[in-house]
Amino acid sequence: MTSLVDFHCHLDLYPNFEKVILECEQNKIYTLTVTTTPQAWPRNYSLTKNTKYVRAALGLHPQLVAQRSAEISLWDQYFAEAKYIGEIGLDARPAYFKSLTLQEEVFEHIIKRCSSDGGRILTIHSVRTAQRVIDIIERHGVCKKNRIVLHWFSGSASQLQRAARLGCYFSVNSQMFSKGGALITSMPRNRILTETDGPFTKLAENPQRPSDVGHCVDLIAIVLKISAVEVKNLIAQNLRELLTN
Ligand code: MN
Repeated sequence: MTSLVDFHCHLDLYPNFEKVILECEQNKIYTLTVTTTPQAWPRNYSLTKNTKYVRAALGLHPQLVAQRSAEISLWDQYFAEAKYIGEIGLDARPAYFKSLTLQEEVFEHIIKRCSSDGGRILTIHSVRTAQRVIDIIERHGVCKKNRIVLHWFSGSASQLQRAARLGCYFSVNSQMFSKGGALITSMPRNRILTETDGPFTKLAENPQRPSDVGHCVDLIAIVLKISAVEVKNLIAQNLRELLTN
């Protein structure tokens, strides 16, 4: 049986972090648990060091940069031991717009470190900032030695094509279909991954868990007009390529 993939989830934000890790292991769901502050890294890292299906990512969330930009030094400290980086990126919604310059500084700092070191897989937030995010990715040539996954991408179709040409992957969640899912049909099929972004997304009024990611698989199957089994196989194949190239 092909395993499901949840490539962007905040496992440490559920009431019982260890239980949800165990759930991913038991259900064989390849899960990337992202962090919003580097302070969360040591626990995330130690709890997922020896798991088969769960990996942790080192992040500094753009929505927290206004309060926590000083933690970039802590992020630097942990960088050497992190293979996965996120959640990072930019957010220009009204509530975060004031910190956008600071967000860019933090994001560019992270991108530069990844560009020079290489070997990382990044999961990037780009709300109302697709153009800026893609500009920064391109300017620093970060795709050369790293892999980029644009999470919950909501830019235009032409921005999507530009990101795809740079080599970016796209992790798709079920809430992205609320506008019909047209953007998903224009993603290169070999670059699509699935995510829940739980607990920030809901399924039947409840925060989604990685075990709900099959719902997203079903929605992708509908818009791509292929079977859910074919989508599962496609996502598993895309994950393998992402991890081996
Ligand atoms: Mn997230």
